[in-house]
Amino acid sequence: MLRFEGVWKGYGGAPALAGVDLEVPEARTTVLIGPSGCGKSTLLRLAAGLIRPDRGRIWFEGEPLRPDRLRPARLRMGYMIQDGGLFPHLTVRDNVTLMARELGWPRDRREPRLAELAEMVQLPADLLARYPIELSGGQRQRVALMRALMLDPDLLLLDEPLGALDPMIRFELQRELKAIFARLGKTVLLVTHDLAEAVFFGHRLVLLRAGQVVQQAAPSVLLARPTEPFVARFVEAQREPQRVLLGAVG
Ligand code: ADP
Repeated sequence: MLRFEGVWKGYGGAPALAGVDLEVPEARTTVLIGPSGCGKSTLLRLAAGLIRPDRGRIWFEGEPLRPDRLRPARLRMGYMIQDGGLFPHLTVRDNVTLMARELGWPRDRREPRLAELAEMVQLPADLLARYPIELSGGQRQRVALMRALMLDPDLLLLDEPLGALDPMIRFELQRELKAIFARLGKTVLLVTHDLAEAVFFGHRLVLLRAGQVVQQAAPSVLLARPTEPFVARFVEAQREPQRVLLGAVG
């Protein structure tokens, strides 16, 4: 489905990605985790074709992701970022249907799809006429997900999709998102810095450090059998706050 082969990407100084090999399996959720600045978003932006690798190749559905083939590939991907990235001057309806309108979908194709998606993400129909500023953070992310799903993409690229939400809304949307992924059987590549969220979503976790993959494995394997001390430290650092919490209640 999606494959990185010896991918390097730098921004002047130290490389943001330094020789990444990664295979993203179909109809599964793969989660990129790692400390801030380790290259997670860069990897996702490369997959979306928003930036180009300095070296190496990215394959999408059996073909190299090259500038001359980017547009058709992009139409088969849905991309969603932390703050939703909605256009502020467009209503919810126009944000979600933007690409479909550009592709010439008639109204009688757009509107049923819009209604279907609103129901799927549980967005009340009266919000379709609103502007993004008139929505809560959670509602904005529901709309961003509708936009990402509008063209029924093969691949969903989600960069900290719940990162800006307060804990209760986040908890609720985590569950809804996971159910949607399972129902649609989509290939998902999701970025988070939160190990608990990664374990919750991921069939496979990919831990990055300083632009390199340190370990990729099923969650239970990564937690139980870290291949490097760094993996064990990363897991331990994320467990500590939970321990404090449990200690306080018990
Ligand atoms: P993460 O998503 O894991 O926090 P990023 O992929 O955003 O990490 O960044 C990886 C590294 O590349 C960081 O050191 C970051 O500062 C750098 N970087 C990312 N984007 C840019 C950019 N547009 N210009 C310069 N440096 C960048």
